[in-house]
Amino acid sequence: MDLFEYQARDLFEAHNIPVLAGAVATTADEAEQAAASMGGKVVVKAQVKVGGRGKAGGVKLAEDAADAKVKASAILGMDIKGHTVHKVMIAQAAPIAEEYYMAILLDRANRNFLVMASVAGGMEIEEVAHTSPEKLARVGIDPNVGISNEQALEIVKAGQFPADIAQSVADVLLKLWSAFVAEDATLMEINPLVKTVDGRIIALDGKVTLDDNAEFRHPSHEALVDHAAANPLEAAAKEKNLNYVKLDGEVGIIGNGAGLVMSTLDVVAYAGEKYGVKPANFLDIGGGASAEVMANGLSIILGDPDVRSVFVNVFGGITACDAVANGIVQALEILGDKATKPIVVRLDGNNVLEGRRILNEAAHPLVQQLDTMDGAAAKAAELAAK
Ligand code: GDP
Ligand code: MN
Repeated sequence: MDLFEYQARDLFEAHNIPVLAGAVATTADEAEQAAASMGGKVVVKAQVKVGGRGKAGGVKLAEDAADAKVKASAILGMDIKGHTVHKVMIAQAAPIAEEYYMAILLDRANRNFLVMASVAGGMEIEEVAHTSPEKLARVGIDPNVGISNEQALEIVKAGQFPADIAQSVADVLLKLWSAFVAEDATLMEINPLVKTVDGRIIALDGKVTLDDNAEFRHPSHEALVDHAAANPLEAAAKEKNLNYVKLDGEVGIIGNGAGLVMSTLDVVAYAGEKYGVKPANFLDIGGGASAEVMANGLSIILGDPDVRSVFVNVFGGITACDAVANGIVQALEILGDKATKPIVVRLDGNNVLEGRRILNEAAHPLVQQLDTMDGAAAKAAELAAK
C-alpha cells in the first residue's frame, strides 16, 4: 500500500523523524483554517499518490491563510498525471537552504535492502542518478544486522553531505531505518530532506510503501487505506478472501493456481486479438475449489459490467475435477438468475471424465465445455465479441 504524503508525514513524526507541522484539508475553507492555526507562511501541497507534484504545479507557497485558501482552491480538483486532487496538505513553510535525498527500499534483485543518499536532492534526483551517479550513495543493508551509527556516517559521507551536518543526517537515516523495520515498509523516501537557513535538518516530503503481506501485524495500518480509491470489485473480492485483480477486458477468468491463471490470461489475450477482446480480470480460486468459493468467484466476475463471457479453467489436482464440477453446478444454483453470461469450462487432470460427466448431466444453459485450454480460450473470446 502506498501512502499519501500527509500519512507519511504522520508516520515519520511518530518515529521521531524531524518534520514540520502539517494538516490535511479537503476544501479551500478547511485549508484556510489549517493555515490560520499554523500562522505565517505555509505550503499547499496536492495529495496524490504520484511523484513530480512540484513540477506539475501541485505545490504552492502561500503568504498567509487567505492566500492558502486561494492556492488550495486552485490545486483541489487539479489533475496530476491522471490523478484528481481531492485533498491538500497544509504544511508549515520551511526556509530552505539546501535540498538532499534519502531513501530505504527493498532491493528484490539483491534480496536485501538498499539505502540511497545524496547531497543533491530535490526535484531533479532522477537526473542526478543519471548524469552524476557519484553523488548518489547506494549501499546494501543486511536486514539481520541493520545500520550502525558508523555505517550511517559512511553512507552520509559517500552521499557527499558536508561534514558539519553529517551526524544530524546520519541520525535521520538511523531513525528512518528503525521506522522502516517497525512499520514493515518496502519503501521510505525523503525528497527533499532539507537543511533550513538556521541549520535544522527536516524531512519535507515523504513517500512510503507498506508491505501488505505484513498487515496482519499492523492493525493500525487499516486506517491508512484509501477506501474511496479502491476498485469496488477488488474490495468485494478481498472481503471474500479471493485473489482477484480487475483488468480492462471483457473475458472473465477463473482458474485454480496463480501460474495456471496467468497462462490463461496469456492464452485469452492471444485468442482475443482477432476480436479485439481481452481478459477482464485475474482470479485464482486456489486449491480447494469448493462450491462456495466458486460461487463467490463467479458472482464477483458476473458482477463486473465489462464482462461478456466467462472462462473457467481448472486443472484437477488434490481437488479432483468431479469436486470442481459439483462446485460449478452448485454455484450456479446459488446464483440463480444472477448468472447471466455464457460460461466456458475447461476441466482437465484428476478425475476429469467424472467432472465432465457431471457438467454434461447438469446441462446448464449458460455452460459449455471444451477439452483444451486453447479451444476454450478461443470460444470464450468469440462469445465475448458477440
Ligand atoms: P514532489 O514534487 O511531488 O516531490 O513534491 P515536494 O514535496 O518534494 O515539493 C517539491 C518542491 O517544492 C521541493 O523540492 C521544494 O523545493 C519545494 N517545497 C516543498 N515544501 C516547501 C517549503 O516548505 N518551503 C519551500 N520554500 N519550498 C518547499
Ligand atoms: Mn518530493
